[in-house]
Amino acid sequence: MDRNPPELSLDLLAEPLLKYYGLRGNLTSLNSERDQNTRVDTSDGTYLLKVCNVDEQPEVIDLQIKALRHIARRDPGLPVPRALPTLDGRDTALLEAADGTNYTVRLMSFVAGDTIRSHPELDTPALRRSSGAMLARLDLALRGFFHSAADQEHPWAMTHMPKLLVYTEHISDSDARRTVEAILERMRDETLPRTSRMRHQVVHQDAHTGNLVIDPVHPTEIAGIIDFGDMVYAPLIMDLAVAIDLTGRPSLSPEGLFDVAIGYDAVLPLEEDEVDVLIDLVLGRMAMTAAIAAGRNALWPHVPAYHDHEVQMWQQLERVSSAAPDLRIGLRRALRFPMPIDGSVDSVQLRADRERVMGERSPHFYEKTLHLERGRGVWLYGADGRHYLDFYNNVPTVGHSHPHVVNAVSRQLAALNTHTRYLYNNAVEYADRLTTTVANHLDVCLFVNSGSEANDVAWQISQVVTGNAGLLVMHNAYHGITQAGIDMTTAKGLERARHVEEIPAPDDYHRAITTPAEATSDTESAIAQLRSRGIDPAAFIVDSAMCSSGIPAVPDGFLGAIASTVHAAGGLVIADEVQSGFGRLGAMWGHELLGMRPDIVTLGKPVGNGHPLGVVITSRAILDEFQAQVRLFSTFGGNPVSCAAGLAVLDVIDREDLITNSRTTGDYLRERLRELAATRPLIGDVRGKGLLAGLELVTDRETKAPATTQTLELLELMRENGALVGKDGEHAHILKLRPPLVTTQAHVDVFIDILDRSLAEVSI
Ligand code: PMP
Repeated sequence: MDRNPPELSLDLLAEPLLKYYGLRGNLTSLNSERDQNTRVDTSDGTYLLKVCNVDEQPEVIDLQIKALRHIARRDPGLPVPRALPTLDGRDTALLEAADGTNYTVRLMSFVAGDTIRSHPELDTPALRRSSGAMLARLDLALRGFFHSAADQEHPWAMTHMPKLLVYTEHISDSDARRTVEAILERMRDETLPRTSRMRHQVVHQDAHTGNLVIDPVHPTEIAGIIDFGDMVYAPLIMDLAVAIDLTGRPSLSPEGLFDVAIGYDAVLPLEEDEVDVLIDLVLGRMAMTAAIAAGRNALWPHVPAYHDHEVQMWQQLERVSSAAPDLRIGLRRALRFPMPIDGSVDSVQLRADRERVMGERSPHFYEKTLHLERGRGVWLYGADGRHYLDFYNNVPTVGHSHPHVVNAVSRQLAALNTHTRYLYNNAVEYADRLTTTVANHLDVCLFVNSGSEANDVAWQISQVVTGNAGLLVMHNAYHGITQAGIDMTTAKGLERARHVEEIPAPDDYHRAITTPAEATSDTESAIAQLRSRGIDPAAFIVDSAMCSSGIPAVPDGFLGAIASTVHAAGGLVIADEVQSGFGRLGAMWGHELLGMRPDIVTLGKPVGNGHPLGVVITSRAILDEFQAQVRLFSTFGGNPVSCAAGLAVLDVIDREDLITNSRTTGDYLRERLRELAATRPLIGDVRGKGLLAGLELVTDRETKAPATTQTLELLELMRENGALVGKDGEHAHILKLRPPLVTTQAHVDVFIDILDRSLAEVSI
């Protein structure tokens, strides 16, 4: 606590300067808290001569010198002082004062310029961003530096700040004292234990506004960081908390701190838990300053007051402390972190805002809006602090926010994102990898951005290559939102387009099993209908999972029979694998499992685990014929980031053996569902393959009457009980389960329990 800097007369310094450093110059005293700093102007440059505090441990002086050397090696351009050796190559020299005291002396290069503190009028957002960026650069340069003295007990060490509680009794204003004590206690009990798990390294810990030098030519930029006397090993985030320095910026609006964080984050990205404690640490540092100032003023009343703007300091502390909750949210926004899931965000207001800016009819799944801000694996996390078992979303097929996909996308986004008119590695690597998973004749890819687009392009290809205009689809099919997709979609009750004919879907729950011969004859009738209107078939498209047709069991030979009939009539066969692809049915592709040989395969949804990507896979001959007539280019399709996502998904499917898991966990799921059906009569039928399951809900097992209202009620109840499911089928009475492929049997058990409890609550 005792500052006690040496106060040697400048005359005494001239001799050692010449003797040890060969320098002669004009000496000027500078301010310092613990050392005696002297500016030395010589004919060939300016230096800083430091006479160290007698109480300073030699190891601590060594730490400072070694750290500056380390920085100079790691980032030679970083504008910080350089530690300069004596003429005979030593780090320090000894100076004996008249009273016999030996002082350690060292020399550094001088970083010239005015500090932010001396020019508050220059403290602009740009300058604050620059200060954050410069500090981050310094922290990067200090990375990997080690010194045994770096865990020194320093009065300004934030990690020790609760010790300052002994000085708060000297704060005369009782409100201010209580505020400071509350902050320091929160530090001790909550914040510091949290920071102990965060990134640590040796940090500067004193880059406040008084130690950041403004560039005299470009006053929106920082030209240097000085004063390496407070370095310690500490949580990295503390360095930023000090640099924000709202005590030294007494009139700055607290939101101004975001600028420093933004600048820092752009150079050295912050982690989410660090961002969450930053506001508390900023308050902690303000409380420390107040406690140290009060302690020093009480212990050494003759020494000038530590802060000359005390009233403003208290006002600033009060402002920041009362704005803290908003500042935490604002900081997340400024750094583009998602909103927290601790119940601090008002979902009702958000819903109203959404209606205002996205329209009143933008759909919600649930009566009571489900506000989600996080996902991991099979779990989704609500802003209300609750978690939900996700048995609905088939897009994050390898699990929500799978770390490998996150890394792949982030790394590629940080490196390059362009489009397929340029050559880059990963589009080729991805196309190559993807085509090895399908039959040999399917050997080329076209990249688009969604399942709808993939189907649209497949339809264009079919028309160009066959010269025909007719389309065959399953009854109650869904294939997308473009005009071609809408024409292919028979699930929405729209009038069928003139060039479209339907083939009945199999349904062995309500009818008999459809034989291949029946499928052939149904297809022939549909083709005959088209031909009666003068149209020949260009394509047959089918979702191998037949989701919107109610996830029926597809009999052996059913799709093969349709495909041969379509081929014989001159049409192409398109396997829409948007739902069924990537292992959903317990095999890599649904068409492969169902024994159908397509000419075109379309992919969407799970391809990028949530990153938008659609793919059309076909044969070289078909693509050549199409490209000879049509030049097709999609700006975003197959961009490097999408391809990185696609590759990472394939990596995870392989590494985690997810197709096997889809099969075994899917079978276990159906087994448990059938067990449940024994006691829950609402369950009429259990079907599906792999991790796609359909549960037909009926009000009467004899008549098999659809339990449409109960299905809706069940969906809401399950959400309340912590699981998300969907519904499908012509009467919206088929519960659709499509959990991520990382679902385990233990997750299934949790799910069955929730389903059972929810079924018990449904009104019959
Ligand atoms: N095909 C099928 C079978 C689908 O289920 C969907 C989406 N539900 C699509 C195509 C359309 O995909 P997207 O929503 O990505 O356009």
